[in-house]
Amino acid sequence: MASSDNDNPSIPLSEWCEARYLGKNRGYGVVALKDIPESTTILTDNALIGIDEADTMSRRARRWIKRQYAALPDEQKRRFDALHCFISDEARIEVELKLRHITGDGDGDSDGGARARARYLRNYERAHTFATNCFDVATSNTQAALFADASRFNHACRPSAEYDVRLPVGAQGDVGQARWEAWAVRNIEAGEEITINYSFRNKQRAERQGLLLKTWGFTCTCSVCDLEGADQGAESRKFDADLRNLDSDMAEWDRISYVFRGWNNGEVNERLERLDTRIDLARDVGNQEILWKS
Ligand SMILES: [Zn+2]
Repeated sequence: MASSDNDNPSIPLSEWCEARYLGKNRGYGVVALKDIPESTTILTDNALIGIDEADTMSRRARRWIKRQYAALPDEQKRRFDALHCFISDEARIEVELKLRHITGDGDGDSDGGARARARYLRNYERAHTFATNCFDVATSNTQAALFADASRFNHACRPSAEYDVRLPVGAQGDVGQARWEAWAVRNIEAGEEITINYSFRNKQRAERQGLLLKTWGFTCTCSVCDLEGADQGAESRKFDADLRNLDSDMAEWDRISYVFRGWNNGEVNERLERLDTRIDLARDVGNQEILWKS
């Protein structure tokens, strides 16, 4: 594991971990500073920017991000600017075309629109930084928030940490108050990189990798993807079967939580918790199967 250098200093995150430069390909990642027992809360983080808009690249979302960015203290702006920004080739072409049509007419620019184009580009890039790094709020279909420290974690399909994004009780309408929390799902050794699963956990390898590439621009080479890539047939098929079984649980969870979202109903909450546990257990079983066989 490459250690940090003067150009890429390590960033303390909590008593348990720091963000460390892991080399050109991986960029920054989060590394354990000491042995972390399973279930330990590794990091909590407060939202820098939050939006309530399903499409993070829509005009409304961009306005939302622009406004909140402008209101951040300089130190927070620097943290935002330092985050990874992924823009797909498709999106780049789209913005090039858009820029050609911005002439600055009407907004007082005397430079043929150069300033208007630069302004558009800055807002567009910030929206992409947000989209690259944001997390969905667990209880909402439209709310998403960006957390500067949480964004340092790299992805693995079989992660060593789980996370949750919630709003404090009574703050359901205010996504800016979202809170991120991660905990160890197994014992993690000092010096080990800590990973989380960004998304797409109940998908099979080809689909997972396609979505990760499209959304974040990288090809996953985690231990599960490598195992499957090596075409170790039986293990790979077993893992995929576990994932398929998860699908029905996940679908039910989505359905119930969508219908009853916001209700304070003991029976429904209990059912959701049971499903939560079942999904976690099924995933753990799938993971351990792989662990034992790999
Ligand atoms: Zn993977």
